[in-house]
Amino acid sequence: MRDQADFAKKVLAFLSHLDEDDAGPDPHQAAKQLGIPRQDLIVLSRNENPYGPSPLVGAALQDGQFHRYPDSRPFLEALAGYTGFSPEWLVAGAGMDEIISTICRIFLGPGDRALIPVPTYNFYALAAGLCGARPEYRTRIVGSAMDPRLPGLKMVFLCSPNNPTGEALSEDSVRSVLEKTDAIVFLDEAYIEFAGKSLAGLVREYQNLVVGRTLSKAFGLAGMRLGYAIAPPWIAEQYRRVAPMFSISSPSLAAGTAALDDLDWMKECVRRIVSERERMRAKLPCALPSQANFLFLQTRGKSKALAEQLLCRGIIVRDCSSFHACGERCLRVTVGRQEENDRFLEALEILDGKKD
Ligand code: PMP
Repeated sequence: MRDQADFAKKVLAFLSHLDEDDAGPDPHQAAKQLGIPRQDLIVLSRNENPYGPSPLVGAALQDGQFHRYPDSRPFLEALAGYTGFSPEWLVAGAGMDEIISTICRIFLGPGDRALIPVPTYNFYALAAGLCGARPEYRTRIVGSAMDPRLPGLKMVFLCSPNNPTGEALSEDSVRSVLEKTDAIVFLDEAYIEFAGKSLAGLVREYQNLVVGRTLSKAFGLAGMRLGYAIAPPWIAEQYRRVAPMFSISSPSLAAGTAALDDLDWMKECVRRIVSERERMRAKLPCALPSQANFLFLQTRGKSKALAEQLLCRGIIVRDCSSFHACGERCLRVTVGRQEENDRFLEALEILDGKKD
């Protein structure tokens, strides 16, 4: 029998330089290890909406035509109503991760460079790297515009509000990047509903801007894998040529259409989450101001150790040391339900030695 190593040589060489993406501990496995039911675990590591989607979603999932290929038009029309952009400016994918991968596949090839201000969402570097492009990291400086001029630059990734730090970019700083570069600028607005002001309107002014969005966060549909982008029609057209034709399943499309039909539910979730975010922040002097559904905390000791101690108490948070350039003393905690947040705050006080 031939050895695995004979075949492993065929794996593209640049993959050995890529960092693996890391979503933190798996909740099911963690519950098993702790010997507690999954529902007793407090999961504050994945920036999900703890209230779930609109009740309309459950009803929409009842009447599926599962023997047919999915039809994405009703979802795109619902998105048009929500975003104010007609369907020719919209593309949808199985989560924003699929949108990011597809946009990278359209624009990036071996030898290209992709500018990534860090720390930020790890997946940009992975998606760009998988196309053979080289990620160029720059340290994010809050409140100051980045200079995107770089030879061979094909894409710039901006994230607002940023994961994991939570701050939003100003319109001036995004315009300044767009004015100074010929590269395609991908502006990730996964958490925009928690921030208020979107910069998606700039897509009408700049032919090189794509704004990515998701229904995983404010709409509570992370498990349905639904993302979309607002893009100039010429990019949307290229997207439709490259992306798999039926990547979003019929139940996901039905769920997304129903969720977009009940904006009151989404807004009420956002209102509660933002109010809890501010309540938590007032109790956490180590937390940065956030415009998202999570807080970024600076820890005194190593964040990995603190995350492990919290895990022993049944609370999963995100140790940020796997984020490029984040260092070893940062945690990201998702804003959960009030009782979950209280359990987290109490555990933190105990571990800090302020409470027995
Ligand atoms: N962008 C950012 C900044 C994110 O945090 C995430 C999810 N964690 C995504 C994109 C991907 O979202 P989706 O669930 O739609 O793939």
